[in-house]
Amino acid sequence: MSKQEPFPAPASDAIGRLVQEFSRLPGIGPKSAQRITFSLLRSNEEQARALAEALLSLKQRINLCSVCCNVTELDPCPICRNPQRDISQVCIVEQPQDILALEHTGAYKGLYHVLHGAISPAEGVGANDIRIRELLARLQNGTVQEVILATNTNLEGEQTAMYLSHVIAPLGIKVTRLARGLPFGTELEYADDVTLTRALEGRQEF
Ligand SMILES: [Zn+2]
Repeated sequence: MSKQEPFPAPASDAIGRLVQEFSRLPGIGPKSAQRITFSLLRSNEEQARALAEALLSLKQRINLCSVCCNVTELDPCPICRNPQRDISQVCIVEQPQDILALEHTGAYKGLYHVLHGAISPAEGVGANDIRIRELLARLQNGTVQEVILATNTNLEGEQTAMYLSHVIAPLGIKVTRLARGLPFGTELEYADDVTLTRALEGRQEF
């Protein structure tokens, strides 16, 4: 056993393969991967099959909304096709799970746009690598009056917000940024409802 191996080599290929697959997921270390794998081994076949089918249908049935780039089974997604939503506001987020966090507050009635990332020169991610082109195309028809920048409050999120405000302001659209309540370094999906609601209400012109 080499020094790098965090735990002894598993007893079978099937177990080892699954442990390896789980280890690749965010937030799951080798120990957790092993624990999940052995728990699945103890579950009945029906449970294992249900998990496998849920994983497969995730990739087969989920696509990106052609309007807002959110993940969806329907195109346009349920938010974009909801006539109750305020189409004059578009809230820009980095990841689809940020929409879940904002929707959970119940404080926002406008539409969204998912960038699927943030500008990060350090990691070689430029403006063309995330869904900014789709956003700008969407803003051309004059319907949108306000763009709310809800990118994360870390370096990449701030850089992305700066870039977006530069390219959106000339279109004559008001650009605001989520404000007080969100400390620097916060990832939106982990913020609580009260903090997020305050940040939405306290958004400032950017
Ligand atoms: Zn949509």
